[in-house]
Amino acid sequence: MRDLTKCIHSGYVPKNSEPKNVPIVQSTTYVFDSTTEVGSVFDEPTKALIYSRFANPTVMAVEGKIADLEGGVGAMCTSSGQAATLITVLNLCKAGDSIVSTSQIYGGTFNLFAVTLKKYGIDCIFVDCDASEDEIDAAVKENTRLIFGETIANPALTVFDFDKFSRVAKKHGIPLVIDNTFATPVLCKPFEYGADIVVHSTSKYMDGHAVQVGGVIVDSGNFDWTNGKFPDFTEPDESYHGIRYVERYGKAAFIIKARMQLMRDFGAYPSANSAFLLNLGLETLALRMERYCENAKKVAEYFAASDKVERVSYPGLEGDRYYPLTQKYLKGASGVISFVIKGGKENAIKFMDGLKLASIEVHVADIRTCVLHPASATHRQLTDEQLVAAGINPGLIRFSVGLEDIDDIIEDIEQSFSRI
Ligand code: PLP
Repeated sequence: MRDLTKCIHSGYVPKNSEPKNVPIVQSTTYVFDSTTEVGSVFDEPTKALIYSRFANPTVMAVEGKIADLEGGVGAMCTSSGQAATLITVLNLCKAGDSIVSTSQIYGGTFNLFAVTLKKYGIDCIFVDCDASEDEIDAAVKENTRLIFGETIANPALTVFDFDKFSRVAKKHGIPLVIDNTFATPVLCKPFEYGADIVVHSTSKYMDGHAVQVGGVIVDSGNFDWTNGKFPDFTEPDESYHGIRYVERYGKAAFIIKARMQLMRDFGAYPSANSAFLLNLGLETLALRMERYCENAKKVAEYFAASDKVERVSYPGLEGDRYYPLTQKYLKGASGVISFVIKGGKENAIKFMDGLKLASIEVHVADIRTCVLHPASATHRQLTDEQLVAAGINPGLIRFSVGLEDIDDIIEDIEQSFSRI
């Protein structure tokens, strides 16, 4: 199946006289015929459903769909994008380990890596996404357990150079973990370019209607966990009757370990209702992504031609620094644009407050156009130096183009610019 079809049909195929839509299985738990039966599921937890903190049929349908879209061997949904990133890192690292990440990442992830994980003994070495291969190589230490980056970074809108980073990851025998939220599998399939694990905030384009907060982790099944750096995958797990994940689950070792160890212990699984809503969004994902790209290109061109604008970043714009990487790895540059307004923070605020159709939100990737001033919202916890490293100028506005009529979106911008 192609993506348009997978979005609609993957993950749930009703049999004779079964519901056409994925049923919402609103149940915390599942019943068993006998004590022996329930005992056997504790011996082999992938055998049957036990409790909706580990797995739930509605959520599993969505997991199947997303795994199929990304081309992975398995996926696990989480209660937020943050939980997906956290669980992924903790599935690979323990206190004393480190990670390497590009500095052009979502502010919440930056804070998780730079501040919170550090308190638990996991260090992060940040590298610029444009760093040379030698610089990235030098950042990888003996205790490094993964390299992290975003396909299209939020809000810097840099495009990740998969070949460069994946060569370094392969050389050191560590997985490449990609946050593919902005691109979605419709515009980029990171596993085709050497990524090993993909995470998403499904709260963004996958949902698309701003109705649920969620995340997902997808396992490519391609990484060799037996290279000596990941004993938790090859040695017995005492908390699960001495299971050795690679020996028992082969290519799905990563995603099954994430579910059996970390979802069991941390409990960040989404509700069936959230999964149902996410599935509705996913059904039109491929269709929507096409229109987001189309609308955003027109808005980016409008900003580029406007005398109110100092500079525009949109990787789908010819002449943008990341245009060549967009051409190489992406089918489109998605729907988010950032631009620096002339007159800095003061005019940024005037412009935002003057918009009538677009709303001010701490959100992107909705069907409705929305705007945000990162320096005073998502990134306000960063120091000036960290803001610069993350590519955030005080006059920077993040403009998430929706699916309204393009003429209405541009007229709204025009009327707000005219008041400045
Ligand atoms: N990754 C990216 C690229 C994001 O934009 C976000 C949220 O904005 C996250 C991760 C975190 O996701 P969530 O808000 O669902 O926890």
